Amino acid sequence: MNELFKTYQKEIEEISEYIFKNPELGLKETKSAKYLISILKKYGFTVEENYCGFSTGFRGEFGDDEGPKICFLPEYDALPGYGKNKDENGHACGHNWIAATTLGAAIILSKMKDKFNGKIIVIGTPAEETLGAKVDMVNQGAFNNIDIAFQMHLGAENNIGCRALAIDSLRFEFFGKAAHAAAFPEEGINALDSVTLMFAGVSALRQHVSSDVRIHGAIRSGGGATNTIHDYASCEFMIRSATREYLDKVTEKVINCAKGAALMTGCTMKLSNVDNSYDNLLNIAPLQNLLKSNLEKVGVKNILNGVKKGVGSSDIGNVSKAIPTSYCELEIETEPNCYVHDENFLKYANSSNAYKLIEQSVKATIYSSLELYNNKELLKEIKEVFQEINNKK
Ligand SMILES: [Zn+2]
Ligand SMILES: [Zn+2]
Repeated sequence: MNELFKTYQKEIEEISEYIFKNPELGLKETKSAKYLISILKKYGFTVEENYCGFSTGFRGEFGDDEGPKICFLPEYDALPGYGKNKDENGHACGHNWIAATTLGAAIILSKMKDKFNGKIIVIGTPAEETLGAKVDMVNQGAFNNIDIAFQMHLGAENNIGCRALAIDSLRFEFFGKAAHAAAFPEEGINALDSVTLMFAGVSALRQHVSSDVRIHGAIRSGGGATNTIHDYASCEFMIRSATREYLDKVTEKVINCAKGAALMTGCTMKLSNVDNSYDNLLNIAPLQNLLKSNLEKVGVKNILNGVKKGVGSSDIGNVSKAIPTSYCELEIETEPNCYVHDENFLKYANSSNAYKLIEQSVKATIYSSLELYNNKELLKEIKEVFQEINNKK
């Protein structure tokens, strides 16, 4: 394995480098997707392009139908708003590293095919930072008949018990009636009032939800001319909770705030999704234990299981509700402390430190995959625990 890794190490690091140097926003990751597809094809993977209706999505397969099917989930979208003039894209979330580690594991496994029966699947998942293409892919059945999914992310600590909150991302539009604000205000219906009343309602609601809930909003349209009663105003809210079940209840209350605000002013209200809704991340203990033992085997130390603060959301949550999913974060040492999405993180996402973690990630993923391909009992146990957790909700 060490020899095999050395053979492909440079090429795997080049994946990180190429994606890092070509930062593209979600659904526009054309160069990145093309590049990753070309590498998979070079190593004999059969690739379906434009996967699930996404021009930058793809699915690569290698191996046989007999035996387990394990998938690896590259991401390759960047973030906007970096550089001197804040008009550049940047891989401040390190998705270049995810692309390198997932393809790296898949390529090396394809060279070890004599050691197992089964299929290696690589699903290129666009727009993690925005739309969340994995949600559509899950809904279109992309993960049906796949046994296990793997992904790792750079982070501030080594953690096999990461959390991701379920999230709903909603747009509220209010439609009123324009009128001269001084001469005929009694003729108007003020849509901006609905927006401010909705914010007031949500602020009151925050007192009555459990402590894991996060609700944050922004006004997208605050009306037109100051001397006109605003006939249109809109806002967006992100609503998050530790579980999808509880989030559904909170989201209903937020929607009621909007309905109430519309009723108070006489506006009509239109509700739509800004981005896909994500589920919370499900961790499966025997899968976490497997990964932990293999991370330790390749020299990763101080591995935590669980986070106390700093929890966001990711579309991998939906994958984790569809099939058993192994997601973990590896600590990238930064000086001073620096977190993903920080401009300074760009210094680390493609650094020699990140390359050291590529090696550990790829090796631990391969060791874990080999055990899953070859140990039917373990795979069965993981699936049973997954079913149990999924049925509890
Ligand atoms: Zn991110
Ligand atoms: Zn990320």
